[in-house]
Amino acid sequence: MKGSASYAAQLRKEINYTKIPVDPVEIAIQKGIEVSEDDAEGYTGMLLVVDGEALISVKKALREPSRKKFTVAHELGHFTIPGHITPERTSFQCSDKDISSFGKADNREFEANWFASELLMPEEHFKKRVQYKDLSKSLLDALCAEFGTSLTATGMRCITFKPEYAMVYSENSRINWFHIGEEFKYFLDVRPGSPVHKDSFAYDFFKGTAIPDSFNEVPSNAWTGDSKFRNSSKVMEMSIGSSTYNHVLTFLFVDHEEDDEEVYDDDPDDYGELDGYMKFRK
Ligand SMILES: [Zn+2]
Repeated sequence: MKGSASYAAQLRKEINYTKIPVDPVEIAIQKGIEVSEDDAEGYTGMLLVVDGEALISVKKALREPSRKKFTVAHELGHFTIPGHITPERTSFQCSDKDISSFGKADNREFEANWFASELLMPEEHFKKRVQYKDLSKSLLDALCAEFGTSLTATGMRCITFKPEYAMVYSENSRINWFHIGEEFKYFLDVRPGSPVHKDSFAYDFFKGTAIPDSFNEVPSNAWTGDSKFRNSSKVMEMSIGSSTYNHVLTFLFVDHEEDDEEVYDDDPDDYGELDGYMKFRK
């Protein structure tokens, strides 16, 4: 859960760590935790605590440094968040899926990921980099480079501060998981396991067709089954695919282009405190 992110801020504060990009190995060492890269079988990241000594092991074969960093940060999460390591549970062995899934449920793997996200992309630095900007591929690339984080982790972090967006992660033409910003008010038809819709750019990527790396309008049924979906609102999709892993990260938002006719038809309550003039703004 997102509350676990505050433990990451606390940890940085405790050791007075202010460097960007954050190096979680340095933080682990400062906490007296040994970090090693190993020919891991059966896990991507592992935390082991024995007799007060802690060890983090990361799969050596991980290709991207950003994934290694996130894995170390994730294991630091298990080490730091109260209730993860207990007298009964002294180790975590985490899979790729554990380290790349975010959700709202009360789940230790999700908690460790929210922790890693805040540890590597501290709110006080990250928020001001995204707050007043539109999400774009170039912004995401710049953030990945600045914070040394993967596109998936960076995209997730963006949605925390740009809650009008949603993100869907699909693999091998099927929805794997999704995260919806708190201000994204539409229903998304993105059940994990279901195939990506043929009207989406994500579908085109899996079919091997070149897709734009910017936001473009798609038919609303490509992502939403919302029966109340307004005709004047456009579903905008930016999908970024990885051929190496055969996965696609899709960002979505709804563009409300209200025409005059709709303004007349609308329930005035929708406008709350806005005065009449404001309704006709372009
Ligand atoms: Zn884990």
